Amino acid sequence: MSIYYIYQDHNRCIGCYACEIHCKTKNELPVGPRLCRIIETEIKLIGGLPRQRFVFMPCFHCEDPWCVKACPTGAMQKRSKDGIVFVEHSLCVGCKSCITACPWGVPQWNPEIGKIVKCDYCKDRIDRGLEPACVTKCTTKALRFISASEASRLKRESFVKETYASLY
Ligand code: SF4
Ligand code: SF4
Repeated sequence: MSIYYIYQDHNRCIGCYACEIHCKTKNELPVGPRLCRIIETEIKLIGGLPRQRFVFMPCFHCEDPWCVKACPTGAMQKRSKDGIVFVEHSLCVGCKSCITACPWGVPQWNPEIGKIVKCDYCKDRIDRGLEPACVTKCTTKALRFISASEASRLKRESFVKETYASLY
């Protein structure tokens, strides 16, 4: 896994899609490919009120990425300094093996260039000390760019708070 993690506070997310839009704008993507996605869950009535979650899905930058192993040309790579998985476009031949290999359908086909595009945590921004575009423009600050260990801590705390809130 990358040393970084994009943490989403589900209670803050309003499903405005600003993250997706700013990702597409920053990466100059045509209609079609979506490097990060907000997936809407089914609407349920809880306590008589309609509730819905909006789940943010970027690339997980796996420790041992299926996409990298499946790429026959070495275009799909993992940066040694921080574990970010990215595509070297000069090597991509558009075979789409990475789409098949990734369990979450993260690599995206860009018909304009005939190559794969994917979330690289905006590594050019990170190298300049900035955060990924999706995080920077999140309307409600639901997204946070943090370390993987900090994400574990936040997840645990959030689980306990939500569980105990329903007990009292
Ligand atoms: S594209 Fe899929 S397999 Fe590759 S690093 Fe991202 S989540 Fe893992
Ligand atoms: S920008 Fe933030 S609030 Fe809006 S959909 Fe994305 S994660 Fe949710």
